[in-house]
Amino acid sequence: LISSPTRPGLHIIHIAAEMAPVAKVGGLGDVVSGLSKSLQKRGHFVEVVLPKYDCMQYDRIRDLRALDVMVESYFAGRLFKNKIWVGTVEGLPVYLIEPHHPENFFWRGQFYGEHDDFKRFSFFSRAALELLLQAGKKPDIIHCHDWQTAFVAPLYWDLYAPKGLNSARICFTCHNFEYQGTAPASELASCGLDVHQLNRPDRMQDNSAHDRVNPVKGGIVFSNIVTTVSPTYAQEVRTAEGGRGLHSTLNSHSKKFIGILNGIDTDAWNPATDTFLKVQYTANDLQGKAENKEAMRRLLQLSSADIKKPLVGCITRLVPQKGVHLIRHAIYRTLELGGQFILLGSSPVPHIQREFEGIANHFQNHDHIRLILKYDEFLSHSIYAASDMFIIPSIFEPCGLTQMIAMRFGSIPIARKTGGLNDSVFDIDDDTIPLEFRNGFTFLTPDEQGVNNALERAFNLYKNNPDIWKQFVQKDMNIDFSWDSSAAHYEELYSKSVARARAAIQT
Ligand code: ADP
Repeated sequence: LISSPTRPGLHIIHIAAEMAPVAKVGGLGDVVSGLSKSLQKRGHFVEVVLPKYDCMQYDRIRDLRALDVMVESYFAGRLFKNKIWVGTVEGLPVYLIEPHHPENFFWRGQFYGEHDDFKRFSFFSRAALELLLQAGKKPDIIHCHDWQTAFVAPLYWDLYAPKGLNSARICFTCHNFEYQGTAPASELASCGLDVHQLNRPDRMQDNSAHDRVNPVKGGIVFSNIVTTVSPTYAQEVRTAEGGRGLHSTLNSHSKKFIGILNGIDTDAWNPATDTFLKVQYTANDLQGKAENKEAMRRLLQLSSADIKKPLVGCITRLVPQKGVHLIRHAIYRTLELGGQFILLGSSPVPHIQREFEGIANHFQNHDHIRLILKYDEFLSHSIYAASDMFIIPSIFEPCGLTQMIAMRFGSIPIARKTGGLNDSVFDIDDDTIPLEFRNGFTFLTPDEQGVNNALERAFNLYKNNPDIWKQFVQKDMNIDFSWDSSAAHYEELYSKSVARARAAIQT
């Protein structure tokens, strides 16, 4: 196995279920690679451990090779061999774990949504720690993410620190408290955790079903640092309405809990260098943006009769959290207001997917509306570049990346004031916000009137004050949404936690 070089910075290992661009379902994938790259740039040694999914984008992994040694890990009373692959993704060393388990945990053609996800990811969490132990790693920080790898926290303290993998502090980031991965308590035993010890109200027992365990709760209770992805969301989840049953747990552990706004990967999302685009452009040369809009219209066979017609974009997972009924409403309202609308989205929820297929078919040959119901990296970049406005009417939004990406591409966000949207989109007409921070249109009440109000104000400004609009576009494109300041924040949390641990050992 590959050993870790000694360096002055921290040694940080992320254990995660996603990493962009090789295994991305949503924002989690972007965060794992964006944060890691930024920490690496700041002089830290960062590695990532992922499952080896069959459906990864293998063409984006450099120098992929299998190690000679297998790592054996425990599950459900037996030891299973894991083949370990190493490679480089976005300049970061990555380990991929391929379990030799008869149930082919990561050979399913999709990342999540399998009937045995609890099993798949508790297996992976344990195998990842086993890899670190057997490789002789001495990380300062093990950073796990969401319920899929939250198992790492109790596994580390209960099993792996006693075995000698004891150099690390554990950081757990919850990217969305809606997904908690609860399961019957007995299922926890498979990965070797002690159900009797852990199925207790102050440990992993689910707060609303006492015969179930909750991995996210385990992540909160057993980690040294707990973060979520924006300051406003961190406040929201500490209330009974927003906490999805975990508000009391978060309040009991509030000292170690903090919200840090995600950044975006400004190399991957850069209109000046983006090779997916028809034409690259910058804030000082918006002709290129206009050409992308025209190219998009041609590609999707939308009307180009009026080049000034505003184009509204929306790129999203179509799940209730994202305000799907408001997205549907925004499509029709945009049409009434004389604009064009492009939706790129797909839904894991069959009835929502069907509903949007119905709308897509209805507008199949329409001059001004196009719905593309799939996941498509090329189209996403092209739509950010082509659109004038970008709508995000979320019911709740832990952080949200699309508003930041949209701004970087000069598309003005129209967003509901919730979670990370509230921390990154500031209304152009809000006199309580200093002028230099105002960058979009917001609404508070998640209903059709709220959407109408923000959309209409956007259309009015676009049509009546093109010069002011252009200034907003340029301003938004120049906002620094890079990971720099957020990574500095994580670095500070990590360092303080490591220092506290060292001080405790010395006393
Ligand atoms: P979430 O993590 O809840 O899905 P975020 O706003 O944090 O939402 O992140 C969404 C990310 O996924 C963005 O990078 C966005 O561009 C991308 N995305 C969402 N849907 C699609 C799609 N259908 N095709 C391509 N990219 C998508």
